[in-house]
Amino acid sequence: MSDSDHSGRKAPVNLSGDEFRRAGHALVDQLADFYAGLPAQAVTPGESPREVRDALGRGPLPDTGMSAEALLAEIAPQMFAHSLHNGHPRFMGYITSSASPLGALADLLASAVNPNLGRWDVAPFATEIEAQTVRWLAELVGYPTDAAGLMVSGGNMANFLGFIAARRAQASWQVRSEGLYGEPRKLAAYVSAEAHTWVEKAADVSGLGTDAVRWVAVDGDQRMRMDDLQALLRSDRRAGLLPFLLVGTAGTTGTGAIDPLPEMARLARAENLWFHVDGAYGAPVAALPDAPSELGALAEADSLALDPHKWLYSPLEAACVLTRSPTALEDAFSFLPSYYKLDKREEAGKPGINYYNSGMQNSRGFRALKVWLGLRQVGRTGVVDMISDDMRLARRLHACVAEEPELEARTQALSITTFRYLPTDLAPQAREHQDYLNRLNQELLDDLQRSGEAFVSNAIVSGDYLLRACIVNFRTHEADVDAIPGIVVRFGRSVDQRLRKRLGLSPQQSAQAG
Ligand SMILES: *Cc1c(COP(=O)(O)O)cnc(C)c1O
Repeated sequence: MSDSDHSGRKAPVNLSGDEFRRAGHALVDQLADFYAGLPAQAVTPGESPREVRDALGRGPLPDTGMSAEALLAEIAPQMFAHSLHNGHPRFMGYITSSASPLGALADLLASAVNPNLGRWDVAPFATEIEAQTVRWLAELVGYPTDAAGLMVSGGNMANFLGFIAARRAQASWQVRSEGLYGEPRKLAAYVSAEAHTWVEKAADVSGLGTDAVRWVAVDGDQRMRMDDLQALLRSDRRAGLLPFLLVGTAGTTGTGAIDPLPEMARLARAENLWFHVDGAYGAPVAALPDAPSELGALAEADSLALDPHKWLYSPLEAACVLTRSPTALEDAFSFLPSYYKLDKREEAGKPGINYYNSGMQNSRGFRALKVWLGLRQVGRTGVVDMISDDMRLARRLHACVAEEPELEARTQALSITTFRYLPTDLAPQAREHQDYLNRLNQELLDDLQRSGEAFVSNAIVSGDYLLRACIVNFRTHEADVDAIPGIVVRFGRSVDQRLRKRLGLSPQQSAQAG
């Protein structure tokens, strides 16, 4: 370690060229082995918080340092051993994609150069790459390419910025200076009952309050009911509320349902509402030649949230908000008059974008690089191929589950398949046994997740606790999918037996009792 140079300057944080090369090469070698070894590893060690803390050690802040190379050599294997691996072929839990290896290298490059994408003049090249990334993402999903856009940390933030842009654009008073006090009527936002929780957070921290979120019932396919929406709008207007925002979800988190976006877009125009689409999960599907037709209406949205760390295989964190109006984000977030941005460089074309004016952050990292490189690495064709494959495997899982007598196949949409373990003797009166079956599947899921054999999550549909597999994972193959029913049945039988014994229920009469 080079603790000080000849002048006595202390710089223990620095590495010499050779030190950096050695530490970096060693780490890249470990990472290559890690990627190669993933399929043979458990999805998760399933450790308790105490076990993890024990493994980490509980030492105080170190007084003195140690070498970077030694630190990396120590921490990398620990991270491999004690992490849940969402890049594992049998990880089908949440909508967290297998992250592309190039994305990891992109983050390294971005951190090394360390541009600050708040202002164009301190990150000229990086800012232009972000602007191009935003345009490419818009192009990928069929959104107008002159949209304003910004890379943010995740779907929550992307949706949040759309929400704030809507509030600014829809308020007829000076909402940015007067806040909500400038208007006696209360703002109201309309979302389906299956919408993600970001909307409550946005309503809460933006000062509207969570009562501003008006939940609209869903139909049997978990899509927003237009008749309910219209009725709720009418009664809210009569009651003196001020509807300002309609939110459609392009791929719900629970079951992958797509709201009736074209009808919602039309209604939003007629009712003078801002139309925001939460495409955190499903928007990239719009790139497919055989995409569900509702996704054509993404182009109608006033704002759209996209999440490359969900279904574009980007490492965390990377999301993007787009607004149809090229000024909507600056209108909502800038604290400079617009003429202030025009600098001398305008002679050479459009002025450079100062992204701190378009969102919440001031200093900003180079999230765009991994997304931009990812799009260049595989192109539109590669994106389409991988997403199509994820969806094909999810449909295959649904078919495999349907063939298994002790499993009940439920929903299938985009790359999400839901199902549950249903002992054959209880199947005829499944409704009556709902409480038991919910408990059974909940315990089954706990056991399965901890086992590390495979990782699925849960969804609740019509009061039934279901297992939910979401495939956004380029490492998942047919064999992984085909293994799931057998694994779930094995866990299901053992939990069922244990639970019946614990609850003093009669043992199963059916074939699986043995
Ligand atoms: C995951 C998800 C979000 C939140 O995105 P994050 O990247 O986790 O912040 C929002 N909406 C939908 C539909 C999602 O699936």
